[in-house]
Amino acid sequence: MTDTRIAVLRLGHRKGRDPRITTHLALVARAFGADEFYLAGDEDAEMFATLSAVGERFGAALKMQHVKSPMALIKRWTRRDAGDGEPGTAAHLTMYGERFRAVIPTMPRNRPLLVVVGGTKVPAEVFECCQFNVAIGNQPHSEVAALALFLDEWGGDIDVAERFKDGRLEIVPSKDGKVVIDRDDENQGC
Ligand code: SAM
Repeated sequence: MTDTRIAVLRLGHRKGRDPRITTHLALVARAFGADEFYLAGDEDAEMFATLSAVGERFGAALKMQHVKSPMALIKRWTRRDAGDGEPGTAAHLTMYGERFRAVIPTMPRNRPLLVVVGGTKVPAEVFECCQFNVAIGNQPHSEVAALALFLDEWGGDIDVAERFKDGRLEIVPSKDGKVVIDRDDENQGC
């Protein structure tokens, strides 16, 4: 487990075509340890509303922001200010990168991490500006799978009780059905 602050940047979102996959990407980001989600490409207030609702119900709400210039964000993050006034680390997920199980152990953990996930066409500048180009296998597949495997390898097991403690609903692992605690019900008088 690590307490590195993690943000995910999704490049090239297309409102008409990508809401489902980008929503899944953000849900994976939230579930596996990221706190911030930057969206480049089309703005999508509906998708942000869906994601906010998940955060309200289950906790660990993502801080979400649309960015007009993803390159400006990557450059600022890596060269100047990762949100705390100092440069941070950026890892671009790409099938052309280095093998994730080899490269993750070499990445700094004492600075905020921006994980950059591509869309249809990723500009060469992204490869150049991110300190790490990371492959989850060197074959094309899915951004959602790539992010999930990366975050799992990065963070391992999440402290669920701590991370999702502000949610209204808590899912209790069960072998034979859905067990959900509604904290609003628990706070009601008898
Ligand atoms: N055709 C696009 C391009 O020119 O790069 C890639 C499309 S792919 C469906 C979308 C994103 O999924 C990629 O930009 C990358 O972030 C991620 N992805 C897909 N396969 C990957 C892999 N093997 N390793 C790491 N990331 C991968």
